[in-house]
Amino acid sequence: MGKQANSCQYIFSDVQQPDLPMIHGKDLSCVFEGNITVTAVDHVHFGIEEGQITAIIGESGSGKSTLLKLIYGLLEPTSGEVRYRGWLVPTRKDKLIPGHDAMKLVSQGFDDLNLYAKVWDNVASQLSNTNLALKASKTQETLERLRIDHLAKKRVADLSGGEKQRVAICRALINDPEVLLMDEPFNQVDAAFRDELQQDIQQIVAETGLTLVMVSHDPAEVLAMANKLIVMKNGKIADAGDPHALYNWPHHPYTARLLAKSNILQPNEAKILGIETEHPIAIQQEHIQTELNLNGNYWIKDVRFRGFFNELIIGNEEVTLHQIQFPRLDVKKNTRIDILVTTYHVFEPKSI
Ligand code: ADP
Ligand code: MG
Repeated sequence: MGKQANSCQYIFSDVQQPDLPMIHGKDLSCVFEGNITVTAVDHVHFGIEEGQITAIIGESGSGKSTLLKLIYGLLEPTSGEVRYRGWLVPTRKDKLIPGHDAMKLVSQGFDDLNLYAKVWDNVASQLSNTNLALKASKTQETLERLRIDHLAKKRVADLSGGEKQRVAICRALINDPEVLLMDEPFNQVDAAFRDELQQDIQQIVAETGLTLVMVSHDPAEVLAMANKLIVMKNGKIADAGDPHALYNWPHHPYTARLLAKSNILQPNEAKILGIETEHPIAIQQEHIQTELNLNGNYWIKDVRFRGFFNELIIGNEEVTLHQIQFPRLDVKKNTRIDILVTTYHVFEPKSI
């Protein structure tokens, strides 16, 4: 990987800043002016470490794609800066072809693919013709790495969503970028093939030291893949850190809802369940037990079949909880129950 060439200075007046994470955002904002002004990214600070999978997660419109484009240099920050290996990331005003040379972006949809060309040509066209033997061997190797060498002669238009995504990733990887940016990469991939593609990508990251930054709104996806999460809400970073820690000990109720679909209770609601707290709490759906009791103070408000488990909506007039019932039992709406909360998480006052 041409690290020296790729990581160089683009902006004449810039001075490399030492001791920063590989990608570093400082006071970064992006405001879109139009009929209405939208602050898509709002004064965020973040660091992305080399060789890791970082996932940017948040609800629709929270600024995830905008943040990814700022990292790549496709958008001009309204305030703040993004640095790559200590150097400012160039934007359109600094560079004729936008996008940092050390990075590749796989955007949503398959905009970059030529649907009517063969898979081989879509991938090989990214390499120069100066060494045709190398071009052929490198294309073959990259297709094999993404397990689509058997599709080389097919037209992209005739492929499934998952196969098209593999071609898009091949195109992005063939020139050995240091950073791969992917926007909602599994959206168009059938659920049955998603796991396999996720594992292949994880393996590539482990084998090559590639740094991956992916955008997603799917908690299952990011919890399975990422080493680090950046949680976005209304253009701000609500939470950041290790997925396991954020799942169990989120700093923000929004994170608890997003990652674990947790029940969020205010102190007065918690008290109804016998939990004394000064601050709001999160109860994960898997941390609630119910027992049938004809004289119970609560009842089952609804039973939602979810396949191998039931989601029960339970509570009384004052409080409603969602619970995962596994293994599934044949229970009916309006059955009286007792509720036992086995574990809950109290939010720190500063996070709310
Ligand atoms: P996400 O990827 O999390 O769904 P986006 O980054 O695409 O969110 O968008 C964040 C906000 O910025 C949204 O309100 C969106 O409508 C707005 N936005 C994004 N791109 C543009 C644009 N080019 N012009 C105007 N508004 C935009
Ligand atoms: Mg988006």
